[in-house]
Amino acid sequence: MNNNPLLEGSRLPAFRRIQPEHVLPAVETLIAENRAGIAALLARGETPRWASIAEPLEEQEDRLDRAWSPVSHLHSVADNEALREAYSDCLPRLADHESEIGQNADLFRAYQAIAAGAEFRSLTGAQRKVVENALMDFRLSGVALDEAGRERYRKIQQSLSLLQTRFEENVLDATQGWTRHVTDASLLAGLPESARSLAAETARGRGLDGWLFTLEFPSYFPVLQYADSAELRREMYEAYVTRASERGPADWNNAEVMVQILALRRELAELLGFSTYAHLALEKRMARSPDEVLGFLRDLARRSRPVAETELAELRQFCRERFRIERLDAWDIPYYSEKLRQALYDFSEEELRPYFPAPAAVAGLFEVVHRLYGIRVVERSGVEVWHPDVRFFDVTDDTGQPRGSFYLDLYARQHKRGGAWMDDCVVRRRTRAGIQLPVAYLVCNFTPPVGGESALLTHDEVMTLFHEFGHGLHHMLTLVDHSPVSGINGVPWDAVELPSQFMENWCWDRSAIDLFSRHHQTGERLPDGLFDKLLRARNFQSGLQMVRQLEFALFDFRLHLEDRGTAAGDVQALLDEVRREVGVIEVPEWNRFQNSFSHIFAGGYAAGYYSYKWAEVLSADAFSKFEENGIFHRDTGRQFLHAILEQGGARDPMELFVEFRGRKPSIDALLRHSGIAGAEIAA
Ligand code: ZN
Repeated sequence: MNNNPLLEGSRLPAFRRIQPEHVLPAVETLIAENRAGIAALLARGETPRWASIAEPLEEQEDRLDRAWSPVSHLHSVADNEALREAYSDCLPRLADHESEIGQNADLFRAYQAIAAGAEFRSLTGAQRKVVENALMDFRLSGVALDEAGRERYRKIQQSLSLLQTRFEENVLDATQGWTRHVTDASLLAGLPESARSLAAETARGRGLDGWLFTLEFPSYFPVLQYADSAELRREMYEAYVTRASERGPADWNNAEVMVQILALRRELAELLGFSTYAHLALEKRMARSPDEVLGFLRDLARRSRPVAETELAELRQFCRERFRIERLDAWDIPYYSEKLRQALYDFSEEELRPYFPAPAAVAGLFEVVHRLYGIRVVERSGVEVWHPDVRFFDVTDDTGQPRGSFYLDLYARQHKRGGAWMDDCVVRRRTRAGIQLPVAYLVCNFTPPVGGESALLTHDEVMTLFHEFGHGLHHMLTLVDHSPVSGINGVPWDAVELPSQFMENWCWDRSAIDLFSRHHQTGERLPDGLFDKLLRARNFQSGLQMVRQLEFALFDFRLHLEDRGTAAGDVQALLDEVRREVGVIEVPEWNRFQNSFSHIFAGGYAAGYYSYKWAEVLSADAFSKFEENGIFHRDTGRQFLHAILEQGGARDPMELFVEFRGRKPSIDALLRHSGIAGAEIAA
């Protein structure tokens, strides 16, 4: 096809011109070129060397990645039927191409020869890591299997890529397939102005009067937190936690999809000689064994469950005394928790919104990273984007050198997947023409601007912004020259949340908040009184939050570790068991949270949800060095930049952590920050 924007190799994707019909031809062309390229490399018959094998392979993989990245990105942020179809057409082809490379025995031998050759010792550390990772990937792609085994491996990978995408699409369809139209204003009692105007604007946008609530988080959650009507809360809670389940349209039900995904993962692991999928997943992680992961999670559960139980008892007592309520259902918990928070701290999340207009939060974030790492962030206009809300920025370092760029897409909208994430558009690497600079996508789903005013963010949303930007910095500030280990590439999954969770800490510091709080009308900084309340309320119900995360993590890990049969009921049974072990809040038996748990069924967190807590030990402990030296301590900031952010996946994360901290990580900072340690002593 002529004029296919995906084949132009331009530095940035031509988002305005990319059409669904470009996708398949581009992918097929590039796969065919890569296949021919590999055959030609191997046909040369020379002694394999870095420059004759690894370098050209990186080059061709980069071409394919750069063409595919905008497609998969658009599938997430600007979904439509035709794109979905084109995307799904490509998935099995891409999975197959990857398997084909991973199972190419000649290529495997070439990498073995590089690793064993005289040249190896003179390669850089990053190059050696690329070769070692490649050897591991060959093994994990089944290069050693017989023909039937390799064939089965390829089929499994193809099916998995389709099923995981189907899971995500079902969640999106189920989220968008439900709305609640309200015409009776009395139902809105208790809701803050921000939630009302968003619902009114959503209704207007669809030609309705009154208010329209959706299951997108900025619309859904305020109802749970503030709506006085228990009926409305229950209705929305039920719709939310039964998305993609048997209680909705059969087409969107993920029950069978989950079972098939789990069965295929199990088969894949066994095919490669691992006893379970969890064992396979740990091959490329910091954690060394399932026992280490389970021990870590259960230790945290043992410490935090008593705290959570006390918090729940406190909530129950408050409800009895203040509201004469004995029974608390799942859809009552956020509502009465918010009431308790207000009673204890005289403080509501909503009071902060006026101080966090999105533009000020974004500008403040840039100032924080300028002070920490010396980098500057400048907006660039005229770049092609996929939606008018999207902005584009360039990052330069303290010597004025360009380091990378990113797209920023902040607001929730239709046809956009929920949640927040960073993804790579272009990866840093050294090419013959010089350094190819990294480009990131930063995507959030914040409360959109209403009525032409700036969007006003909650403190939680500001933290999410800092979190995703932390991932972005890891991707953009890397100085590694080889794409398989530059940025977040090659970083073990359970270490990848270190830079992101680390950045959240600046949302709790007065001098940092002064840089990004600005009242949207008066321009005033966040007043001391309000800041003190925010701090005091910081660990409100932190035990309950902790056990909730542990419940997700244990469920995910045990699901991939234990052979629990093959029916949707077995998945439910395990979840119930985990809830009995670590949970404290009772959920209705029709709750189908697992049917929309995209992290583990569609994303990269399978047998890896524990990574959030695992990496939080690292991020909290890394931050404690700033607590000791000063929150904007220049040298400590530069040390973090050099030891962690610039190193990508080229070195072992434990080694890097020790280089920065001067010792191995300790769990103390995490316990202290989440209020668990102090509570334990007091109890
Ligand atoms: Zn993250």
